[in-house]
Amino acid sequence: LFQVNGHNPGSDGQARESLREDLQKFLGGEVLLHQLDDLTKVNPVTLETVLRCLQARYMADTFYTNAGCTLVALNPFKPVLHLYSPELMREYHAAPQPQKLKPHVFTVGEQTYRNVKSLIEPVNQSIVVSGESGAGKTWTSRCLMKFYAVVATSPASWESHKIAERIEQRILNSNPVMEAFGNACTLRNNNSSRFGKFIQLQLNRTQQMVGAAVQTYLLEKTRVVCQAFSERNFHIFYQICKGASEDERLQWHLPEGAAFSWLPNPEKSLEEDCFEVTREAMLHLGIDTPTQNNIFKVLAGLLHLGNIQFAPSEDEAQPCQPMDDAKCSVRMAASLLGLQEDVLLKTVLIRTIRAGRQQQVFRKPCPRAECDTRRDCLAKLIYARLFDWLVSVINSSICADTNSWTAFIGLLDVYGFESFPDNSLEQLCINYANEKLQQHFVAHYLRAQQEEYAAEDLEWSFISYQDNQPCLDLIEGSPISICSLINEECRLNRPSSAAQLQTRIETALAGSPCLGHNKLSREPSFIVVHYAGPVRYLTGGLVEKNKDPIPPELTGLLQQSQDPLLLGLFPTNPKEKTQEELSGQSRAPVLTVVSKFKASLEQLLHVLHSTTPHYIRCIKPNSQGQVQTFVQEEVLSQLEACGLVETIHISAAGFPIRVSHQNFVERYKLLRRLRPHTSSGPHSPYPAKGLPEWCPHAKEATLEPLLQDILHTLPFLTQTKATP
Ligand code: ATP
Ligand code: MG
Repeated sequence: LFQVNGHNPGSDGQARESLREDLQKFLGGEVLLHQLDDLTKVNPVTLETVLRCLQARYMADTFYTNAGCTLVALNPFKPVLHLYSPELMREYHAAPQPQKLKPHVFTVGEQTYRNVKSLIEPVNQSIVVSGESGAGKTWTSRCLMKFYAVVATSPASWESHKIAERIEQRILNSNPVMEAFGNACTLRNNNSSRFGKFIQLQLNRTQQMVGAAVQTYLLEKTRVVCQAFSERNFHIFYQICKGASEDERLQWHLPEGAAFSWLPNPEKSLEEDCFEVTREAMLHLGIDTPTQNNIFKVLAGLLHLGNIQFAPSEDEAQPCQPMDDAKCSVRMAASLLGLQEDVLLKTVLIRTIRAGRQQQVFRKPCPRAECDTRRDCLAKLIYARLFDWLVSVINSSICADTNSWTAFIGLLDVYGFESFPDNSLEQLCINYANEKLQQHFVAHYLRAQQEEYAAEDLEWSFISYQDNQPCLDLIEGSPISICSLINEECRLNRPSSAAQLQTRIETALAGSPCLGHNKLSREPSFIVVHYAGPVRYLTGGLVEKNKDPIPPELTGLLQQSQDPLLLGLFPTNPKEKTQEELSGQSRAPVLTVVSKFKASLEQLLHVLHSTTPHYIRCIKPNSQGQVQTFVQEEVLSQLEACGLVETIHISAAGFPIRVSHQNFVERYKLLRRLRPHTSSGPHSPYPAKGLPEWCPHAKEATLEPLLQDILHTLPFLTQTKATP
């Protein structure tokens, strides 16, 4: 029923012994399924046995399980305080072999940390946390940040700084701020991250955390103006409305109980609604109270903007007008955004067109639907800039000087795979990112490892895995892919772009094994068979969303604002014109949402490839967020989606430790002293210059731990062909 983790039992007496002990315990009823802390030990490794083991562990309140090179984290959906105490963090940090302790996110944290320092040159590391929405990715990456804040800091400097001034405290403070502005309550998670995040924890030569840098991806800015049924806007809006003082309510025109159309479901009471926590964290990040108030004033302005409804105009030549009961909202929005009421209205209601050689200006009143779109666009534009600005402020507060750090640990927390009844560009981008990360995992672990065994002539029967390259070819491949076709339609800018796109996808990409169609679908759509399952995307709206057009008048309007924050966000200096403004101009090169996203994804993958990756797979035991409830079908589909069984097979059969020849030599060169006769000469197995010089200062005392080390490591080493 057991197999020995990692290597052939015959090759290692110690392992054979441990196998015998395990079997004895099992036969004697001492080991139960939930006590198997590594899924490589279930036998046979099938979806069913893995599922049973995870279920048994979950029901026994054991939430972490090793799966070879990955850690599986089950969401407990309840506070398990003892699992995350600083004492436990220190215990994992101090353990001679943390992998021998119970599986934990701290084991991954500690091994990653030791990887940075144990090798000769500091090697950058990354921890990729994946899983579907609500599975616990953000929780896990927060937990890792707290772990490093405890173990990767010098106690010596504790006395010299107040807690709040300490860098690790500031790094931790970035979480509540970014979550307040970038997370929202969705149907699947009350605190769902609506942006992707890669945080680089910077370590100095002595492995102290001296700073961090955050990179964000694709904030779901449409949420500011449009929330699905039963979902909510970003937390910060509710925090302001619930937490503002009397005085602030007056200043921001937010009387208690005021209703805002962009603020659905305010009655839900969430832990995330705590305004005080956000304010405090902002303060520690160097965002002073006047600046904070300025931010909240602008956000209140957006809420009033959302209450402006337009009445259609009977005469096409005349602009629409705000409905009677929205006039007050116009006044409030204008005052809070530092704009003149009439200029704000005119800009939203009337389109400016430049035409002809002289670029003559024409003004055309917009129909009501377009007025709504322009109002929404204004709000999204402000919110997205504000978010980017906040990230840059956070970075300037937590980022260390380039010279002061030598290695980093990157934590990646990106939105999980999404599939709704109707999906659009947002889901396409999110699922595309997940495909890329899955490919990174496949390439790094499943493919590379097996190829290396083959290259080194090790006895190995190939374990097949799902390669998602065909799906990526369909999404991003060249010369023709879904992305290239959407971009092309944006460039051609034809009126019937959705229909054209549908036809082009159906014809030009018909040969892809990952493309499908639902003949019963009433709206034009296509299906992409992702590694995690098929997803149907509606074609309508893709091109428009990809253009993400920002009328230049709107940016121009904000450049006239009297509000200092908005003025900073929308500088008038033409040199600082952003791509959004540029793409609003007819002749400027079109940089679409998809192409920007693709570029940032490529950059991220480039960084990940330059690191040693570690993987944590978060699993959601049920979709209702219930304690002690393990829904097998739901977990099964998540296990299938991430190819966990294949991973376990390869981990179980493969070698858990790989050290390059160079590092091996550097690390164990002292041992040459034990074999003085084999170091060189005609009968030596080493070439004359194959090993570094003899180290004359080595003391006997240093050899003892070294021997222990080598005895532990040797049985796990793969052969290496690079040098004899
Ligand atoms: P999304 O993709 O929507 O952002 P996510 O994977 O980041 O989802 P989290 O926000 O991390 O999901 O987790 C969802 C909720 O599950 C958390 O708010 C928390 O209540 C609970 N949770 C997750 N992990 C743990 C844990 N280890 N202990 C206790 N509760 C947890
Ligand atoms: Mg999250």
